[in-house]
Amino acid sequence: MSKRILVVGAGFAGMWSALSAARLIDQHGRTDIEVVLVAPEPHLHVRPRLYEENAAGMKAPLLDIFASTGVRFIQGTVERIHVERSEVDVLGAHGTPSSINYDRLVLATGSRLFRPQIPGLAKHAFSVDQVDEAAALEAHIKALATQPDTLARNTVVVAGGGFTGIETAAEMPARLRAALGENAKVRVIIVERDKEIGPDLGAGPRPVIVEALEALGVQWRLGAAVTSVDADGLITSEGERIEASTVIWTAGVRASALTAHIPAERDALGRLHVDRNLRVLGVDTVYATGDVAYAATDDDGNHAMMSCQHAMNLGRSAGHNVAADLLGEAPIPYSQPKYVTCLDLGPWGAVYTEGWEREVKMSGAQAKELKTRINTEWIYPPSAERAEAFAAADPLRIVVA
Ligand SMILES: Cc1cc2nc3c(=O)[nH]c(=O)nc-3n(C[C@H](O)[C@H](O)[C@H](O)COP(=O)(O)OP(=O)(O)OC[C@H]3O[C@@H](n4cnc5c(N)ncnc54)[C@H](O)[C@@H]3O)c2cc1C
Repeated sequence: MSKRILVVGAGFAGMWSALSAARLIDQHGRTDIEVVLVAPEPHLHVRPRLYEENAAGMKAPLLDIFASTGVRFIQGTVERIHVERSEVDVLGAHGTPSSINYDRLVLATGSRLFRPQIPGLAKHAFSVDQVDEAAALEAHIKALATQPDTLARNTVVVAGGGFTGIETAAEMPARLRAALGENAKVRVIIVERDKEIGPDLGAGPRPVIVEALEALGVQWRLGAAVTSVDADGLITSEGERIEASTVIWTAGVRASALTAHIPAERDALGRLHVDRNLRVLGVDTVYATGDVAYAATDDDGNHAMMSCQHAMNLGRSAGHNVAADLLGEAPIPYSQPKYVTCLDLGPWGAVYTEGWEREVKMSGAQAKELKTRINTEWIYPPSAERAEAFAAADPLRIVVA
């Protein structure tokens, strides 16, 4: 009887899981194990680029790659996972409910921006987390030109001074000027609860970040939390009111809510604890990968970040290991000891670091060239040519050497 691997999600982790599983099954010449991927759309949403212009265009098609590698795509959203009977409930693209059973499940449903219960936040704050949300922000910024020239119209507040907040803020002066005219008196302010900008990025890249933001004219308020948002601005925990027609919330992400359907331990971000082969601890039929997995990257106590960098490798490993599991082959434990970051700093450039201490290795225009290559080439799907797609899906492939 044939068996089914069901991958849920077509992001970085899901796409690479499906390709890697199909690769190993192909290598064994087996036709009795099928790889099925279910996701709302047959596109990879390139989330790391959503702070850039043209957010609606940040999607890469996947149907040709799936067709050439034998991955069956089902368009739909998984609403419920029934681990006890190895089945998921799916709401199809046209609203039709159905169920799909599986022998092994790979959960790859990613993460979403976490919006706390701050008055006015849900209604008035924009985000760059999902394609439609970033596209709505872009349309809003373009429409500002039709409004009277006020301090609020010319101001963008970015709530959260972490990785996404800094990348977004660094883009905004130029984005505002493009919409409002070169001579517009634009103002961009980061509001960060911590005492430092980029608190999680550590001390290494901070001087570069500060230099870049200052050169771009971006201001910040540190040790200040957002306490309320309205159509014309926000109030901080320091009692300051900042007039702003545009508030962008960037602070905090949580793993997909589907992780709660798996009876297993999760971390504070909702990620499922997995073993070195990315199998969920205590649930033999389920693997977790990408932003839904709390996975060790090495033997030194480091764990994967919710990042594209980790999601791509986690995907290739999970796909390989879930197929190996059904084929009775030994798994290849996930390992990604090299950790790097490349932070976009808008027209100023970028900063590239290596290691978990984030030692700066490159900055300015040189780092920006690398960031552009990452954002326009490295994170995109492979060629739809079968052999090339399979070669790219090798779990032992080293992308960042
Ligand atoms: C603005 C921004 C900038 C970023 N910059 C960087 C960066 O510079 N470097 C970096 O490494 N990372 C960066 N990231 C993080 C990176 O985008 C994520 O870590 C990465 O997308 C995670 O990949 P994933 O496949 O786990 O999840 P996702 O990319 O979120 O994909 C999840 C997939 O699951 C699908 N899905 C969700 N729910 C369901 C459901 N119920 N049923 C079926 N399918 C479902 C989705 O449609 C999607 O296809 C950035 C993120 C953002 C938002």
